[in-house]
Amino acid sequence: MRVARLIAVLLASGFALLAAAVFLSTFPANAATEREVAARESGAPLVYTDHPSRPSKERIIALYVDRDFGDHERQRIVAAMRQWNYVLNGFVRFTAKLLPDDPSSAEIAQIRRSGGWIVAKVDSRHPVTRQAEGRTALAVTVSGGGGGFVYVIGDRIGSRDLTGVVMHEFGHVLGAGHDGYGLMAPVYNANNGHCIDRDAAALVARAQRLPLAQMNWCEPNAGYSPPMASRH
Ligand SMILES: [Zn+2]
Repeated sequence: MRVARLIAVLLASGFALLAAAVFLSTFPANAATEREVAARESGAPLVYTDHPSRPSKERIIALYVDRDFGDHERQRIVAAMRQWNYVLNGFVRFTAKLLPDDPSSAEIAQIRRSGGWIVAKVDSRHPVTRQAEGRTALAVTVSGGGGGFVYVIGDRIGSRDLTGVVMHEFGHVLGAGHDGYGLMAPVYNANNGHCIDRDAAALVARAQRLPLAQMNWCEPNAGYSPPMASRH
């Protein structure tokens, strides 16, 4: 909870702070398996499209994951990241590191200045849950000056699908707003939020100026419905 408290302080102070170094990469990254991981995590093989892409350069978005998340939760966050990486198809790529243990405000400021995003585990006592949409949200994304924060409100997630909830927030990180249906619907729906649908990919394509036809998305209506047993 130290991170959460520190972040609350930073929120209040407007993030005007110092510099320092960031370290530690503990998540294995293997681009070659991302499609398989995405397919497996979405609950079915071949549910995603497989479009060729021709990115002229790759843009990296660095995620820093709070150590308050347990191993199982970290895996779900990485699964959400990998599905997006598959959808983004080489144009933009998320990387994930663990936040330093008990990070200083200088370290947090450095991450923000470098355009990094902090995925923080908080609970419903956190100040962010008292602001507008945070009152009833499962998670809240706050951006500002390049990077920002994804707050996961742990005690509200309960048995809901953390991968789906985080995938929705990563859509916001990528600049997508809300949509009426599917992953980017404002209200979490276990049936619609399990993979990155075409509408969600289109919102991100627009925000990031990417060619949608060279991105990927899941096609959940291709005679497939996710097994309820995989939702927990
Ligand atoms: Zn949202």
